[in-house]
Amino acid sequence: MFMQSSQLSTVDHSRAYGRFTYIYPVISRRSHGLSIGVNLSLDNRCNYNCVYCEVDRNTSVQRAEVDPDAFGRELFQILSDIKSDPHGPEVKDVTFAGNGEPMAVRCLDRCIELAARILSALGFADTPVVVITNGTYVHRSWGRRALTRLAAAGGQAWVKLDAGDQHRMTRTNGTEFPIERLEENILDASRILPVTIQSMFMKCWGKPPSPKDVDQYICCLKRLAASGAVIRNVQAYTVARQPRSSHITPLDGTALELIASRIQGEAGLPVETFA
Ligand code: SF4
Repeated sequence: MFMQSSQLSTVDHSRAYGRFTYIYPVISRRSHGLSIGVNLSLDNRCNYNCVYCEVDRNTSVQRAEVDPDAFGRELFQILSDIKSDPHGPEVKDVTFAGNGEPMAVRCLDRCIELAARILSALGFADTPVVVITNGTYVHRSWGRRALTRLAAAGGQAWVKLDAGDQHRMTRTNGTEFPIERLEENILDASRILPVTIQSMFMKCWGKPPSPKDVDQYICCLKRLAASGAVIRNVQAYTVARQPRSSHITPLDGTALELIASRIQGEAGLPVETFA
């Protein structure tokens, strides 16, 4: 039997579920309910090092190749458990996220295809496959393959954009990845399927983002919109669980709503907030 939804919570996104390697069910604010999380980053590595990241990278983890068939067996198992449970919760989505960047995994396209097939075979045809990505592999051949497969499966891509200038992006995401390249990647991704932009706003050492930071972020959204990027919506959120860095704390709801109304008013994009 599937674990009761009361045993899951938005404040515990542990990757552990039974003996599963790839699957972790969570109650997700952004999915509005039960999300079947998929972690393909078995080595806990990521090409970003976000200040708000919750993944513990101090423990050494062995490198391991992703086995799409083993992932498929786990997904089939958990969805079968939920389906056979008369009190089983509604599954809102199957989301590739996890302990690193899912689009770094070269067999992501195969895993997406398997997920879509299993969902359909078990009667979850309306449950979407979601990929949460930092957008840095869109220009790679395997990244494009994954997005093309996702589009064919009617899935969704949620792409991280936390800043509108290189300085803040580097500070927030711990990366030198060029912001111009990220903008191009978001535009390219949106030519394959409409994208959701996910943006984190938080306090750093007790300070909220400066007006200049928000101005530059909104300019970036406006540039994307003016270039023809197809953006479904923006998810503006703040930290819900304590990140590794203790100087990162949540932004209060009023400040987040103010940023959201600027996004809506100035960039003309629909926004959902998660305070
Ligand atoms: S992209 Fe995601 S997994 Fe990678 S460091 Fe940032 S929050 Fe952590």
